[in-house]
Amino acid sequence: METEKVLQERFGYGSFRPGQKEAIEAISGGRDCLAVLPTGAGKSLCFQVPALMQEKMTFVISPLISLMEDQTAHLRQRCIPALCLDSSMSRRTYNRTLYEASRGAYKLLYVSPERLQNEGFIRFAQKNPPSFVAVDEAHCVSQWGHDFRPSYLRIRNFVEALPQRPLYAAFTATATPAVRQDIITGLGMDDPLVIVRGFDRPNLFFAKQSPADKDRALLGEMETQRGKSGIVYCSTRRDTEHCFRLLRRHGYDAARYHGGLTAGERSAAQDAFIRDRVRVMAATSAFGMGVDKGNVSFVIHYNMPLSLEEYYQEAGRAGRNGDEARCVLFYCNEDLATGKALARRQEKPERAERLLAEMWEYCRQEGCLRSYILRYFGEDRTGECGNCSGCSGRNRWRRFINFLRNG
Ligand code: ADP
Ligand code: MG
Repeated sequence: METEKVLQERFGYGSFRPGQKEAIEAISGGRDCLAVLPTGAGKSLCFQVPALMQEKMTFVISPLISLMEDQTAHLRQRCIPALCLDSSMSRRTYNRTLYEASRGAYKLLYVSPERLQNEGFIRFAQKNPPSFVAVDEAHCVSQWGHDFRPSYLRIRNFVEALPQRPLYAAFTATATPAVRQDIITGLGMDDPLVIVRGFDRPNLFFAKQSPADKDRALLGEMETQRGKSGIVYCSTRRDTEHCFRLLRRHGYDAARYHGGLTAGERSAAQDAFIRDRVRVMAATSAFGMGVDKGNVSFVIHYNMPLSLEEYYQEAGRAGRNGDEARCVLFYCNEDLATGKALARRQEKPERAERLLAEMWEYCRQEGCLRSYILRYFGEDRTGECGNCSGCSGRNRWRRFINFLRNG
C-alpha cells in the first residue's frame, strides 16, 4: 500500500505500469533486482519510489550527464531533493554538495560510474553509506553490448567496499539472456529477482517460412500489402539491390538503403520513405535506427538475421501506430551459411555463433512464435497467442484433422 501512496502523492500517477510494482516490492524487500523493461516503460520510477522510502541516500549510477540532469530536474520539480554530481562542478561546489549530502540534504544523488573510482568520493561514501544503489542503463557493463563502459565493471568493487551492503538494483531495456547474465555477474548481484515485462507487441502478426523461391514468396507477400508501407530487410548489399530491383520491376515504388550508398543517397531514401513518397524500403540492418514511422504495415525479412534480438528489433518497426501489422521471416540453409561466415568475422565469434544458433533454433521450432520470442527475452510466457503462423498453422492442421474425422 505504501508504494502506491508514494506513487500518487509524490509523483502524481494513478497506477503502476507493468513491472514497476514487482520491481519496487523486490527492492524494498531487500532482494537484489534486475528489471528489464522497454524504453519508455518507466524504469526510473522503479528506483525513485524505493529511494523515497529509505532512511538514507540513494546513489543512482548513470552513464550520461544529460540523462542525469533530466531526471534530477524532474525530481526537483516534484520537490524531491535530488542532485547530480557533475564533473564540470567547481571544486568548491563539489565539496559543498558532498557536505550537504552528508547532512541528509538529498534523497537521490546521481553519479557517473567514473566518479566511483575517485578516492575522495569513495571516502565520502564509506562515511555516508547509501541505503540503496541503483544502476541505470546496466547493459553498459556487458562487453558484448554496443554501449560497453569499462567503468561499469568497477561498480561491483565500489558496492562491495561499502560498510553495509545497500539495496542493489539494475535497470536496462536490453533483454537478451547473454547481456542479462553479464549484468548479474558484472555487477556482483546476489540472486537477483529478474523482472522482464512489456516486450509483447500484440498487434504484430509473426510468420516464418522457408520458401523454395524467395522472390516468388516476396512478391506473393507484397501482393497482399499493395499500397501499404513496409520494409524488406536483407543481410547483404547485394540482396538489398536485388530486392529493390525486383520490387521496382513489379511496379512497387521502392527505395533502398545500405552502406554502399553515399550519405546523401541514404538520407534521401530515408526521407522519401518517412514522408510516404515511396512505400517500400529495401534495406540492410543499417536502416531503421531512430526511424520512428507509425504506419509501417509490414516488415519482411528476406534473409534470416544474425540474432533473435536483431530480428525482433527490426520486426518491431512495424505497427508502431498500434494497427495490425505483419512480420514475415524467410530463412534457408544459405542464410545460415552466410550468417556463420559473418559471425566468424566478428570480434567475438563464439558469441556471434551462439546468437546465430539461437536464431536458427527459432526458425526450426514449431509452435507459437510469440511465446518463443518472449521466452527468449525472459518473459514468463507459455501457450498460444493465436496471432502468429505457429498458432494459425496449427489451427489449420487441426481443422484439417477435424475435416477428415467429421467429413
Ligand atoms: P525508461 O527509463 O524505462 O525508458 P522513464 O523512466 O524515462 O522510462 O519513463 C518514461 C515516462 O513514463 C516518463 O515520462 C515517466 O514520468 C512516465 N511514467 C513512468 N511511470 C509511470 C506511471 N506509473 N504512470 C504514468 N506515467 C509514468
Ligand atoms: Mg531510463
